[in-house]
Amino acid sequence: MAKPDTLLVDDEVPFVETMIKRLDKRGLNVISAHSGADALTQLDRHASVDTVILDVKMPGMDGLETLKEIKKRHPLKEVIMLTGHATVETAIEGMKLGAFDYLMKPCELDVLMAKVREAAKKKHDHDLKIEQARIDKLMLTRGY
Ligand SMILES: [Mg+2]
Repeated sequence: MAKPDTLLVDDEVPFVETMIKRLDKRGLNVISAHSGADALTQLDRHASVDTVILDVKMPGMDGLETLKEIKKRHPLKEVIMLTGHATVETAIEGMKLGAFDYLMKPCELDVLMAKVREAAKKKHDHDLKIEQARIDKLMLTRGY
């Protein structure tokens, strides 16, 4: 299996299973987690993940808490919040805390795919800038 690029976090197991199949068909390499704690473990295991799709409403550690922890531990990973109508305010709060974007459930697959691609591109561009800065620093250090 190719290295995972996307982590889907949602406490509804059937939803996760259906989404993984659909997203895999569209060329993403998706892994999943069913809780916030599980999501953090998966991110520690899989450094290749660029984008996290994160359910807002989960028992235990909710989406907002999970987002804060993800951003603390992995500030460059992009997070898309998944929300129901009742928790839009939470999604907005999430965006203030560094989430890339949010989507309303049930979400259109095309829209989700477009957002994941946008998020992954942002992460990739950001990584390149950091790499370039490292090279610049190295050149300076060596007196070029
Ligand atoms: Mg939920």
